Amino acid sequence: MPGESLRAFIHALPKVELHIHLVGSANVGTVLALARRHPEAGVPADRAELEQFFVFRDFEHFLKVYWAVQSMLKDRHDISTLVVGLAAELARQNVRYAEVTVTPYNHLLDGMPGDELLAGLTEGRSAAKAEHGVELAWCFDIPGEKGVRAGRETLVFALRERPDGLVSFGLGGPEVGVGRAQFEPFFTAARETGLHSVPHAGETSGPATIWSAVHDLGAERIGHGTSCAADPALLAYLAEHRIPLEVCPTSNVRTRQVSSIAAHPVRRMLDHGVVVTLNTDDPPMFGATLEGEYRAVATTLGLREAEVAELARNAVRASFLDAPAKSAMLAGIDAVSPGHR
Ligand SMILES: [Zn+2]
Repeated sequence: MPGESLRAFIHALPKVELHIHLVGSANVGTVLALARRHPEAGVPADRAELEQFFVFRDFEHFLKVYWAVQSMLKDRHDISTLVVGLAAELARQNVRYAEVTVTPYNHLLDGMPGDELLAGLTEGRSAAKAEHGVELAWCFDIPGEKGVRAGRETLVFALRERPDGLVSFGLGGPEVGVGRAQFEPFFTAARETGLHSVPHAGETSGPATIWSAVHDLGAERIGHGTSCAADPALLAYLAEHRIPLEVCPTSNVRTRQVSSIAAHPVRRMLDHGVVVTLNTDDPPMFGATLEGEYRAVATTLGLREAEVAELARNAVRASFLDAPAKSAMLAGIDAVSPGHR
């Protein structure tokens, strides 16, 4: 597919994003607004300077940017600014629905009252729909490195507050030395109330972490899952049980889990019949966009339009949208896809 027509086709596809972190979604415009509101944070409030600060250099610098943004989130206005900024960016790329990961424990630890966080999410979500036509849902996740205490508090907060749009329960942070199984009681309790299980696994550790996410945490989708490619039995299991992967190719390159998009095991996953969805993780901080992920994978793997459309369909089917909303999204994809036009 020539570059320009591929670009136009990917843009025209109504898209779904299933793996994006709220704090990591902050783009330059949003951070500029926050930096002007909170000069004490020391984040550049000049656009050119801020753009320089945002350029990805290495993983250490990414963490610096991430925590600088986190430090400026003080109240509902800051949260809602972040949410609406994300929605504007999604709308620009024709992304109609996103499941966004929020880490309540980190905000509470930073001193934000829970009510402020919830109000910001709720106000932002309404504005995202009203101003940008983008539907948002939430995943509340445990920062794994903070241990079982974070697990318990995230669960209590999720079940007590249960904001509109909360659909899933997750687990993020480092994997090495942070066993998935210790969080089993929290995932069991969350699942009993109807929240879906979507832990990160196999991003920075081997296939055993993915097996544990499936067996101990009842994972219905896997965040990343990159290392499954090393285990044929796991590939077969994920394919047979239709457990989708939230693949984030650029993120995996940025964090040096893979050396390039060409070296990413996404081809192997697809060849084994695993349900692959494409996602961005922390897009502006990794210099990624969802359209860019589709373009990179389509170009690298030499996909035809129909195969690219199938990736977009995978994300719809793997989402926690209700059946009528899924049908409407799939019809929107059909309307622009080969064989359906
Ligand atoms: Zn992630």
